[in-house]
Amino acid sequence: MVFAQARWDEPLIIQLSRVGKIGFHESHSYDRTVLDLIPSRLRRKQPPSLPEVSEIEVVRHYTRLSQQNFGVDLGIYPLGSCTMKYNPKICDAIAASHKIQELHPYQDERTAQGILQILYEASDFLTKIVGMDKITLQPAAGAHGEYTGVLLMRAYHLDRGEKSRDEVIVPDSAHGTNPASAAMAGYKVVEVPSNSEGCVDKEALKSAVGPRTVGLMITNPNTLGIFERDILEIAKIVHDAGGLLYYDGANLNAIMGKAKPGDMGFDIVHINLHKTFATPHGGGGPGAGPVGVTRRLADYLPVPIVEFDGSKYYLDYNRSKSIGKVRAFHGSAAVVLRAYVYMLLHGKEGLQTVSEVAVLNANYMAQKLRKIKGFSLPFGEGAPRKHEFVLSASLLAKETGVSALQVGKRLLDFGVHPPTIYFPMIVEEAMMTEPTETVSKQELDKMIQAFERISEEAYAKSDQPATSPHATTVTRIDEARANRPKTMQLTWRSTNPTS
Ligand SMILES: *Cc1c(COP(=O)(O)O)cnc(C)c1O
Repeated sequence: MVFAQARWDEPLIIQLSRVGKIGFHESHSYDRTVLDLIPSRLRRKQPPSLPEVSEIEVVRHYTRLSQQNFGVDLGIYPLGSCTMKYNPKICDAIAASHKIQELHPYQDERTAQGILQILYEASDFLTKIVGMDKITLQPAAGAHGEYTGVLLMRAYHLDRGEKSRDEVIVPDSAHGTNPASAAMAGYKVVEVPSNSEGCVDKEALKSAVGPRTVGLMITNPNTLGIFERDILEIAKIVHDAGGLLYYDGANLNAIMGKAKPGDMGFDIVHINLHKTFATPHGGGGPGAGPVGVTRRLADYLPVPIVEFDGSKYYLDYNRSKSIGKVRAFHGSAAVVLRAYVYMLLHGKEGLQTVSEVAVLNANYMAQKLRKIKGFSLPFGEGAPRKHEFVLSASLLAKETGVSALQVGKRLLDFGVHPPTIYFPMIVEEAMMTEPTETVSKQELDKMIQAFERISEEAYAKSDQPATSPHATTVTRIDEARANRPKTMQLTWRSTNPTS
């Protein structure tokens, strides 16, 4: 992971540029025809100011940069709630095939039957996994799916003439995107507290619901990794008040083939393909957050939806109550394709095994880590968790001054990415840990040993945790400076007036 020549102030590719260097010879015959199609008034007067570098400079530059970051391909990445599981390379290989790359969304449907079939079948698999009736593949991420879901709730209530509903209820353990999505849709957010078991306080929920309730947004298992056992009762409380039940399905990894949100009483579900279904995660690239609904909400789904008439697949725009489009074309088709490959690779039993192993790994680790000096497992030390658990480093912080942040930084020196820290906010010095099923027992033990070592260091008053990480390209950053808008430079501008 550490490379002597890796530097945080690596030159930008554009700074390596020297006039006349060539890395690639393009085919001019091909270029001419394309250029002829563009009217001259729309063509550039000057060539674009692209870096001029040799092929080997490009290879070295990007290989070096790729080694300066921590990724799932490099080590254990137990970032709770985010489900950073290994993405099988075959999914990328298939998505990179020329048959997929050369498709265009404006292509005649008759010539794109293959990808439409893939989107149709992926929709079918996902719908079955969450126990819904109909699904849209359009939203580009989990938060986008939530926003789409809240718009669906609004369309439903308005269609029934219920204009006075303006409150969305979320538990205090909810992911931050839940209240944010509700607020973006113009709704007031009402928070309900968790009880001593880490589940929704039902009495508080009863007093929160009423004629103004749009719905409840909840994730189950919740962000503490605890399954809401009383979910049917919770659903009834919300439904009796005329509200809808929204399932934040970002963390489906615990329940695939075991429990369906549809059976728990949910009306709307979003799924994070980049978490549970192993599509690439992060980096700002395209993602997918499909949203499934029950029959009574199906008419409001965004258009188009891929349908099959018995002989051909087609895009159905004919939905008069649709909330419209939430994304161009059919969403991130190549991302859905990767998830489709992942689902085919595993099959029904395989997906069940994924969930079983994810839960087993989380519980093994939770029970080992909670016994290490300075750590604890709030909301039921011995109680089983699902795919993740929230450890507290509050005793460690009190007794040694080593905080969850410092534990996280120090873990990097042992080749382990830090868990999610300081979330959910109802746990002090929270370390939300999700090993996932793609981690072996050896790796789990390696991570447990790293925690033990850090605890020993902390109680021995070593300065290692406080000064870590030491083994990474960028060591301890100045958090205050990194947060000041003027010190972050994310754009590059040439100082050479002719380029
Ligand atoms: C990740 C996550 C989200 C948001 O998903 P994005 O794709 O990052 O927008 C929502 N809820 C929970 C519980 C999550 O873990």
